[in-house]
Amino acid sequence: MLVPFGPYSAAHAVVKPMRLNNANVCIYCMTRWCTSEQCVAMHRASLWIVCETCNGFDVGCHCMGGVVEATQALVAEQEHRSLPLTAPVNDDGEFAYYVA
Ligand SMILES: [Zn+2]
Ligand SMILES: [Zn+2]
Repeated sequence: MLVPFGPYSAAHAVVKPMRLNNANVCIYCMTRWCTSEQCVAMHRASLWIVCETCNGFDVGCHCMGGVVEATQALVAEQEHRSLPLTAPVNDDGEFAYYVA
């Protein structure tokens, strides 16, 4: 099932990931407890979209918890992209494994 365009498009499904991941490691410089102003600025300016490889389901995907950093042009395209509500499964009923 596809979610229709508009308020349910991919443009509205994104949450910017934290700059420090769940283990407090900076996603830009790979330093734990990073306080670099440069990293903070990069993160503040960064734009993100739902990963186009896994549609955000993030099963074995190399994205950042279902999202990836993107350009302004790619972000603009997201308004016209619908997302499936549930992750696809294979013939055995298992979730597909994404290898980006
Ligand atoms: Zn950093
Ligand atoms: Zn992904």
